[in-house]
Amino acid sequence: MALVRGAPRVSLLANRSIFNQFRPCVAARSFSDKGLAKTAANSAPETMTGHLIYTQEHLALKESLRKIIDQEINPHVDQWEAEGEFPAHKVFKVLGNAGFLGVNKPVEYGGLGLDFSYSMAVAEELGNIRCGGVPMAIGVQTDMTTPALARFGSHELKTEFLIPSIMGDKVACLGVSEVGAGSDVSSIKTKAVKKGDEYVINGGKMWTTNGTQADWMCLLANTSDGPPHRNKSLICLPMNLPGVHVARKIDKLGMWSSDTAEVYFDDVHVPCKNVIGQEGMGFTYQMLQFQEERLWAATNILVMMDNIIQETIQYTRQRKIFTQPVLHHQSVYFRLAELQTEVELLRSLAYRAIALYIKGNDVTKLASMAKLKAGRLARELSDSCLQFWGGMGFTSDVLVSRFYRDARLISIGGGADEVMLEIISKYMEMLPRK
Ligand SMILES: Cc1cc2nc3c(=O)[nH]c(=O)nc-3n(C[C@H](O)[C@H](O)[C@H](O)COP(=O)(O)OP(=O)(O)OC[C@H]3O[C@@H](n4cnc5c(N)ncnc54)[C@H](O)[C@@H]3O)c2cc1C
Repeated sequence: MALVRGAPRVSLLANRSIFNQFRPCVAARSFSDKGLAKTAANSAPETMTGHLIYTQEHLALKESLRKIIDQEINPHVDQWEAEGEFPAHKVFKVLGNAGFLGVNKPVEYGGLGLDFSYSMAVAEELGNIRCGGVPMAIGVQTDMTTPALARFGSHELKTEFLIPSIMGDKVACLGVSEVGAGSDVSSIKTKAVKKGDEYVINGGKMWTTNGTQADWMCLLANTSDGPPHRNKSLICLPMNLPGVHVARKIDKLGMWSSDTAEVYFDDVHVPCKNVIGQEGMGFTYQMLQFQEERLWAATNILVMMDNIIQETIQYTRQRKIFTQPVLHHQSVYFRLAELQTEVELLRSLAYRAIALYIKGNDVTKLASMAKLKAGRLARELSDSCLQFWGGMGFTSDVLVSRFYRDARLISIGGGADEVMLEIISKYMEMLPRK
C-alpha cells in the first residue's frame, strides 16, 4: 500500500513542469496585495549555479510550495489568527497531497525519499506564511514528531502512523514537556507501566502544539525506574484512546493560529508494540529528533525576517517625518542593513549545518548555535523593525506586530536559549564538573 501511495507523488514531483521550466527568478512571487513588492530573493539574489545547498530541484520544490501558500494558506491566516486555531486536517491534506509533509521520508511510506536539505528548503519556504503558528504546526508534523518514527519505528508503526501523517490524513503532536519539566527533559514524570503486552500510562503533557486536533502523539514517557537517560521510551499514542483528556486549550501571547494544549493521561492502555525502536532509548531518540527540530526552527525564521525587513523598508520609504522619509535617516537604513547582514550570517550558519548533516556529521553544536542565534535575532529584529513603524507597528494591522509576538517563542520552545548555551558550552568543553 505504501509503495502505491508514495510512488505516484514522486513521479508527480519529478514530472512537474516546474522542474523542466525552472526560472531562476523565483522572486516572481506576489505579496502585492499587502504592499510587499520585493521579497527575500530580491534582497539576496541567489543563482541556480551558485547556491550553497539548493539545487534546481530544491528551488522548484520551493516555488511549488509557494503557490500553495499563496492560494490555500495566506488568504485565511488573518481569520485563523482571530479564531485561535487553523484547520490542521484540511491544510495538512492539501500539503500531503502535494508531497510536502514527507519530502525526506522513505518512498515506501509515502515520502519523496529526498535528503534532509529538501525538508529544510520546505521549512525556509514556509517562512512566507504570514504568521508563525501555521508553519510551526506543519514543522511539528514533518520535523519534530516523525523523524524518530521514520528512522527507528517498526514497519507496523510506520504503516499505522507515518504513512497517514505524510499523506495529511493524520495530525501529529509531540508530548515531551510537562507542567514540571520543560528544559530538563530527563525529569519528566509521565509513566508507562508494562502490564502484559500493554503499557498503562499516567501523567500529562504541557504546551502541546496541535494538541487539540491531533490524532496521535509522539509521547516521551518513563518506561522503567532506571537512570533518567536510559528509562524513557518514545511511544506512538493514539489521541482517541480512553483516558486521554485534552484538559484545556492554552491562551498565548503569540502563535494564535496554532492550538496549544494541556493533556492528561489517566490509565491509558497502549500496546507495547507502539514503542518506537528500542525500549529505554527514548531520551536518545528525542535528543536526535531535537537536532532536526532546531535546524527547522533556525531555517524557517529566515524568510520571515527577510520579509519583515522588506516591508519595513517599504513602509518607512513612504512615511515622511520632518519632510523626509523615515528610511532616509541614516540611523534607520544603517540598522536595517545591519539586521539584514545578521540574517545572512544566520542563513550561512544554517546552510552549513544542513550541508554537514546530510553528509552524516553530528551537527549538535552548529544546530544549537543556529537555534540560539535565530531566537536572539528574531527578538532583536522584530523590536527594531516595529519601532520604525511607529504607532502603526503597535497595531494588529501589520505583520511586524504579529511577528513581534510570534517570534518570541523561538528563544523558549524546543530548548530555551540557555539550554542551547549549555549544549554549546559542553561541546566547547567548558562546563564545570558536577
Ligand atoms: C507555544 C508553545 C508551544 C510548545 N509546543 C510544544 C510541543 O509541541 N511539545 C512539547 O513537548 N513542548 C512544547 N512546548 C514547550 C517548550 O518546549 C518549553 O516551554 C521549553 O522547553 C522550556 O521549558 P519550560 O517552559 O518548562 O521552562 P523551564 O524549564 O521552567 O525554564 C524556564 C527558564 O529557565 C531558563 N533556563 C533553562 N535552562 C537554564 C540553564 N541551564 N541555565 C540558566 N537558565 C536556564 C530559561 O530562560 C528558561 O526559559 C511549547 C511551548 C510553547 C510556549
